[in-house]
Amino acid sequence: MSSIFTKIIEGEIPCYKIAEDEDFFAFLDINPNAVGHTLCVPKKEVDKLLDLDEETYSGLMNFARKVGIALEAAIPCKRVGMTVIGLEVPHVHVHLIPLQKMANATFQEKVSLSKDEFEEVAARIKSHL
Ligand code: AMP
Repeated sequence: MSSIFTKIIEGEIPCYKIAEDEDFFAFLDINPNAVGHTLCVPKKEVDKLLDLDEETYSGLMNFARKVGIALEAAIPCKRVGMTVIGLEVPHVHVHLIPLQKMANATFQEKVSLSKDEFEEVAARIKSHL
């Protein structure tokens, strides 16, 4: 069965899309640690980061770098943090999180956004790509 992220990539499940190229896809996390929390995903469905082939691993990091630079320009923050966990969704994804404080990186505090707010944030990030 396809992962929830493959369903997002294939348009079967909606998302707030940020960027896409031939091999990678970025969209807003639906339960964000902070405004602008973005996930970068390889289209190739692999569970664990370290199981990616070298080319996909490097490509994912380069893609996340481009998205992260746009995120840092779009969302006021001290810096953009990058983390990989994967305990919830078994399809590799890089979390890009605008950080103001350590709590934004811990997945303990969450922010709640309306559909309009998600759309506005996605548009703001995309305008810096
Ligand atoms: P983890 O697998 O622990 O790295 O966490 C998975 C992340 O995916 C969590 O931060 C979720 O909020 C996020 N997530 C799960 N389902 C969706 C979805 N349909 N759209 C956007 N983000 C999602």
